[in-house]
Amino acid sequence: MVAQPGTAKIEPDPRVSTVPAAGFVASIDAASGQIVEQIPATAPETVPGLMAGAREAQKSWAGKSVRQRCTYLRKIRDAIYVHRQEVTAAISLETGKPHVEAVFAELLLALDSADFLARQAPERLRSEAVPHHNIGVKAKSGSLHFQPFGVLAIISPWNYPFSIPMAQILPALVAGNAVLLKPSELTPRVGDVIGKIIAAAGVPSGLVQVLQGGGALGAAIIEANPDKVFFTGSVSTGKRIAEACARRLIPTSLELGGKDAMLVLADADLEIASSAAVWGGFMNCGQTCISVERIYVEEPIAQPFIERCVEKAGKLRLGPPSDRDAEIGPMIRATQLEKVEEQLRDAVTQGAQIAAGGKRRSDLGPTFFEPTVVTNVDQSMQLMREETFGPVIAIRPVKSADEALALANDSEFALSASIWTGDAAKARTIAQQIRAGSVMINDVASYYGITEAPHGGSRSSGWGRSHSRFGLLEMVQVKYVDVDLLPRTPKSWWFGYNENVAAAADRFVDFLFAPRWTRRMAALASTRGALGTVFRRHRI
Ligand code: NAD
Repeated sequence: MVAQPGTAKIEPDPRVSTVPAAGFVASIDAASGQIVEQIPATAPETVPGLMAGAREAQKSWAGKSVRQRCTYLRKIRDAIYVHRQEVTAAISLETGKPHVEAVFAELLLALDSADFLARQAPERLRSEAVPHHNIGVKAKSGSLHFQPFGVLAIISPWNYPFSIPMAQILPALVAGNAVLLKPSELTPRVGDVIGKIIAAAGVPSGLVQVLQGGGALGAAIIEANPDKVFFTGSVSTGKRIAEACARRLIPTSLELGGKDAMLVLADADLEIASSAAVWGGFMNCGQTCISVERIYVEEPIAQPFIERCVEKAGKLRLGPPSDRDAEIGPMIRATQLEKVEEQLRDAVTQGAQIAAGGKRRSDLGPTFFEPTVVTNVDQSMQLMREETFGPVIAIRPVKSADEALALANDSEFALSASIWTGDAAKARTIAQQIRAGSVMINDVASYYGITEAPHGGSRSSGWGRSHSRFGLLEMVQVKYVDVDLLPRTPKSWWFGYNENVAAAADRFVDFLFAPRWTRRMAALASTRGALGTVFRRHRI
């Protein structure tokens, strides 16, 4: 029996207003759809003034040493800990995710990022000498310096409203930048809590400012010319931001959507792999950039694997975050749920089967949707090509690991992936061939919580990296400083070109790169003579 996903639009409850008052952003309980608080919005026309304040604050902040900035990171870490209940409550309220997920994927990550950076930043941002390998520049002493950009704009999505901005604010600060943060308009309360934590940590005023509002405010922030923009969100908004930044030559880091593949080989542990598929596909109600969305499973184990996924999906408990036993919360908004239903309808029309779930659970709230397992899928379906961003896993049997790999790579997205097998060597070989920013072997998505692991993708998944030392290096500009050790000596490449200089230049190339040593030695002898002429003839 093939279930049919709903077609009716979810009508707003007339008793519940979801429209924010003018000049406010509404904090909405995702489970009930009700406004719980009106949070003052930042007027776009005030952004230039806020930017000026951030620039002023950044000047003295950049003058502090990295170690001094690290003490503030520790204070932020401690303030997060003190406010941890408020943090997780705001996250669960506005996103609908269970408390356990608010702790593991948000709170812990922010705490650990602060800790990691406070330990690592002094070494990672230390100036370093640059030894020159070329004899022609041996009389120079070079060094690299890691300097802040200035004021960074961080524009964040709603789905990890605490860990995503915190994992960017912390490295931004330790590298000497100021930050204008625009949280998602769907999670303004979490944004306010971030502002509170920053203030409680005693971070200098103006250095991190939380600007509340929607896309128009985000656009106004870019108009105010930040020195770099860190955007995390959908592909369509990412393109708009990339265009706006390109017009002003503002550098960007873009963390966009995903369509992560899970490759389950015939020797995988069925129990473990099916539990991982269900968790990886349904955590945060499937609204994670690195959610498992496509599963390619080798034919010999496809049927039992599907059966286990169906059985496990059916056992998951749906409910609001106030129900501590609930594993699946609501989707964020009706519009997102309707997009998921649209993809399911399209797939079913083309022959896909909904093996589990597929229906709304309006009895629990306006945006609850059953965890859904889809089979009989084809690579050309929207469900297999576009980001679903909902509680749906699509499973397709494949003949071989090679076919799984080819299908995994047949996507405009390249964020992360996972491989399930008992053969570690084979898994490592496949991992090298998957087009993705990260690949997990026998686990899924959890690398996101490892502060040393870089996160980011390519193609439509964006560019740049967060977390890890690479995320820290996104926050700095590298400056090279060169000290000439023979300041009274004219340089052989300066003006005064003539026949001798041209010959010396050719000889010098021979000396460095001629394949035969004899030729190099001969070139050295005549280069020295020629260079002498060069120095003597110096006149300009
Ligand atoms: P979204 O693109 O709708 O919004 C993201 C942010 O952009 C919000 O703060 C929004 O107000 C702002 N914005 C909208 N229009 C803007 C404009 N013109 N100028 C400046 N800012 C603007 O995304 P969302 O629904 O909040 O998040 C879901 C998406 O984010 C999914 O596609 C998901 O895959 C992606 N995501 C990616 C990662 C990653 O690390 N790659 C992480 C989390 C979420």
